[in-house]
Formats: sequence, structure tokens, C-alpha cells
Amino acid sequence: MKRITVIGCGVVGAAIAYELSLCQGVQVTVVDRAAPAQGSTAAALGVGMAVISHKVKDRNWQLRERSLKRYQTLIAELEALTGRVIQHNTQGILSLCFEAEDLPRWQSLQAIRHKQGYELELWEPERVGDRCPHLSTAEVIAGIYSPQDFQVNPTDLTLALVAGAQANGAEFHFDQPVVGFDGAEADTAPQEDHCCAVVHTPDQSFATDAIVISAGLGTLPLTQTLHQPIPIGPVLGQALRLHLDKPLGNLDFQPVINGNDIHLVPLGDDDYWVGATVEFPPETSFEDALAMSAEADRLDEVLDGAIAYCPALAEGTITQRWSGLRPRPQGQAAPVIQGLAGYGNIWLATGHYRNGVLLAPATALAVRDELERLG
Ligand SMILES: Cc1cc2nc3c(=O)[nH]c(=O)nc-3n(C[C@H](O)[C@H](O)[C@H](O)COP(=O)(O)OP(=O)(O)OC[C@H]3O[C@@H](n4cnc5c(N)ncnc54)[C@H](O)[C@@H]3O)c2cc1C
Repeated sequence: MKRITVIGCGVVGAAIAYELSLCQGVQVTVVDRAAPAQGSTAAALGVGMAVISHKVKDRNWQLRERSLKRYQTLIAELEALTGRVIQHNTQGILSLCFEAEDLPRWQSLQAIRHKQGYELELWEPERVGDRCPHLSTAEVIAGIYSPQDFQVNPTDLTLALVAGAQANGAEFHFDQPVVGFDGAEADTAPQEDHCCAVVHTPDQSFATDAIVISAGLGTLPLTQTLHQPIPIGPVLGQALRLHLDKPLGNLDFQPVINGNDIHLVPLGDDDYWVGATVEFPPETSFEDALAMSAEADRLDEVLDGAIAYCPALAEGTITQRWSGLRPRPQGQAAPVIQGLAGYGNIWLATGHYRNGVLLAPATALAVRDELERLG
């Protein structure tokens, strides 16, 4: 039996735990310093922009496509296995184009996606208004409708992944911060293929054959302990929940709307999420950046942007405001899915920045592939 310890139980760690729990001969242990789905995952809107993203080749597209394919079965599979309900929306994403000069780029994307086997529809403003009468089309040049993209509640998903992995025999230890490793040489970077055989929390030690670090913003301190620092910095995001007196638009067509990078996410029961801000930290220390506070003005600007394309939102009541920190790699592209240099049994699955919910299933499959390759 191969013992694998996953550090971090946000959506990425939970997806890895679930995918590994399906493998024969693997015992999965997950350790988190908090409860599941508390980090960046707790703040996410769960919008999966795969086909409608402008990433069309190489790793950026391959990860998106692999996630999209896994999502086609994953949610139903988890609901059947765990009996839990996962709020999700399969009515696609409608992106609003406000600048005529952006249209050729969308047309080119449409042609590429068609060749790749995915359909993107380019709608005239009149069609946007017919299908989504709640949207103001005065400034709209075109609507780009992607029927295969989706949205999923990140907390529902993460908790279902945990329950599914548990049903398959994985063990979870919460409120247990990982503070050290056996086999991490004192004060020096290790030699190639060095192995860490034990993961320590203040209360427990976990003997292990392989380690996956999916700790989001906790990655830097953990990798510092291992003398191979991987800088992952925070990017603040704020969002809000609105309640309306009646649903927006056509009840039988409620896609996620995106306009000027502002999402409007229908949740049912006349509730909607609106967000999110993308706020880079000041050029100060990592600690200052982590402590940066959410400014209400920035979220108000996002709400104003949503009201500009969906005026009925102005009548809504704000029932919740929140913020979270996205884990963004510094000096390399997001996400970081690779072995930790110098170690033969530590794998990084972190730094998913703005797309962790979308990319969690593909990340989990990539980790599974690598662990299978290592034998
Ligand atoms: C406002 C907002 C909106 C977003 N919207 C979307 C969206 O629409 N679509 C999308 O795909 N993504 C979205 N994201 C991004 C998404 O939230 C992240 O990419 C994703 O949650 C990252 O998941 P994770 O599991 O890597 O990290 P996290 O959710 O942060 O989980 C990391 C876990 O590691 C644990 N940990 C850290 N250090 C240690 C340690 N030493 N020991 C034990 N445990 C440790 C933490 O407690 C935490 O539970 C959004 C983010 C924000 C803030």
C-alpha cells in the first residue's frame, strides 16, 4: 500500500484526495490547518471559463479541457456516492462584448474552438436581449455564448470531494497545521531525489511515501521549511450576494453572465453572486500583503459595473459581502504542478490563482498520473 499525504484541503487538495482515493493500492491522508474549504476556496464564485477563455493551446488549454471533460461526470458521480447536493449551473456562460475592436478576437476564438470540437455562439445584440431580457444591450456589440462552460459552488464541491474520498477510505485530519518534515536537511537545499518520510503537525506525525503540497498561500512557508521556497503571493478578491424580489430574465435560461470581467452568477431563489475584484497587493512585504484590507469602494465599483449591464440589480438587497486571497505564483505561470526540486517524493499542486475551481479536477489527474509514473 502506497501512503500519500496531501497537505491542504481547499478545492485542489480535496480533488486530489478524491482522485487518488479511486486508485488501487493507495492510502490517502489529508492534513489541513483549518476545516475543509476555508482558504481561497471559501471566497470563490466557481465559474469555469474553459471554452470561453482565450487560452487555446499548450498546458493552459490542456488543463482546461481535461477539467471540462472530468466535470462532465464528476458532479453526478459525487452526488450519487455521497448523497450530497452540489449547487451547479450547466446553462453555460454568456460573455458580453462592448468594444467593436474585440470582435475579431472572439471570431478567431470561435473558429479555433470549432476545430477543437467545441461550439461558441456569437450573438447579435438583439439575440442577447431576446434570450436575456434582464440585460441592457445598449452598449453591447455582441454576446459570446459558451454552452459547455459551467459554474459550481466551490464549498459544496469541496465538501462532496471530501465525503467521496472518505467513502473510498481516505483519512482527513483537520485543525492540524503541518509544521515540519523528517528528511528535510537542516539549513541546506537537498540533493536530487531526497525523500521526506514523515510529515509533522504539533500533535501528530504521519509516515508517508509521497507528499502533495496543495496548501495555496501556505505553500511558501512549507517550502521554506524544505529549503526550496516557492513564492505564492496573495491577490485580493471581493464579491457579494444580492437578493431580488423576482428572478432576472427568463426562468428557463439562467446562464452565468460576464461583462467587463464581472460575473453575475444565478444561484436560484432569486439570489445572485456578483464579483469579483482583482486587487494586487502593495509592493511591500508578504506579511503586509496578507494583512491588506478589503476596501468597500472597490466592491461598489464591481456592483456598479454589473448594474450597468443588468439594471435590475440596482433594486437588489445586498445580503452578504466577503473577500478572499487568491494564491498567485510569483515568477512562474499559474498553476504550479510539478515536483519540488531536490526531492523525489514531494509534488506541488498549488498557485491556481483565478482558476482553482476550474482546474482542480485536471490538477488531480495530473498528480495521479505523476504518482503512477513514479510507481
Ligand atoms: C473572490 C474570489 C473569486 C474566485 N472565483 C473563482 C472562480 O469563479 N473560478 C475559479 O476557478 N476560481 C476562482 N477563484 C480562485 C480560487 O478560489 C482558487 O484558485 C482556489 O480556491 C485555490 O484552491 P486551493 O485548494 O489551492 O487553495 P485554498 O482554498 O486556499 O486551500 C489551501 C488550504 O491549505 C491549507 N494550508 C495552508 N498551509 C497549511 C499548513 N501548513 N498545514 C496544513 N494546511 C495548510 C489551508 O488551511 C487551506 O485550507 C476565486 C477566488 C476569489 C478570492
